[in-house]
Amino acid sequence: MTQIFADLSSMQDGMLAIGGEDYNHIKNVLRMHAGEKISVRGTDGNSGEHIFEIVSFSDSLVQCRLLSVKESDVELPVRVILFQGLPKGDKMDLIVQKTVEMGVSEIVPVEMHRSIVKLTGDKRRKRVMRWQSIAEAAAKQSRRAVIPQVNVILTYKEALQYAASAADLILVPYEAMADEAGNGTRALLESLKPGQTAAVFVGPEGGFEESEIGAALEIGAKTVSLGKRILRTETAALAFLAFLIYQFELD
Ligand code: SAM
Repeated sequence: MTQIFADLSSMQDGMLAIGGEDYNHIKNVLRMHAGEKISVRGTDGNSGEHIFEIVSFSDSLVQCRLLSVKESDVELPVRVILFQGLPKGDKMDLIVQKTVEMGVSEIVPVEMHRSIVKLTGDKRRKRVMRWQSIAEAAAKQSRRAVIPQVNVILTYKEALQYAASAADLILVPYEAMADEAGNGTRALLESLKPGQTAAVFVGPEGGFEESEIGAALEIGAKTVSLGKRILRTETAALAFLAFLIYQFELD
């Protein structure tokens, strides 16, 4: 069944009018007709899956009648905020798309010491808008219950402050720990409980400066391993999310 995200706060007495791009998508791209069913997730954070029946089309609105609501169980039980060291080129597009598919809750691009790319002025705003639209498309494709937010680009100091205020556990996958046996990573991941928030920091292609690791440890972050091999910056967050999928979603 087709799924879209829409503002459900405008729903009245079980009726929802959908306009704008979604109207065009439903009417002209999907060529849907009255009587067909459509799944709608709320963009207002109301994450239940709302099943509507299409009632009628006007020139700019499609009127839908609510048939049922299924509480969502497609989200990871822990919130994951990815603090991604700004990578080169268009790698961030891939990181946003793939981590949204794998359940990330929020993505914060971070200017780290070894981030080669330096974005200034309007370019910053435009990149974040691009990444947000990639996140929305990936959320629709993977049938997420919510659309993860892509934050504005932060400095490393700002990112640490945000993580300290928002997360129950701050983890820093640190490549220097890659081949350390018994590094405690599994115990740290297993200490995460449903309803908690994990912040995970991933370095750019050049990795972390020692001073960045020190600053993270000072706010109580823990360094972890992602295995014995050195992963690319665009692979690291995927590996981390795969650990959580294994831990929370597979029997
Ligand atoms: N300077 C590193 C090197 O080549 O040895 C490369 C950094 S790696 C490309 C980018 C980021 O991925 C690292 O900063 C770290 O956050 C994460 N990462 C990659 N492999 C890892 C591993 N085996 N354990 C922990 N973190 C890893």
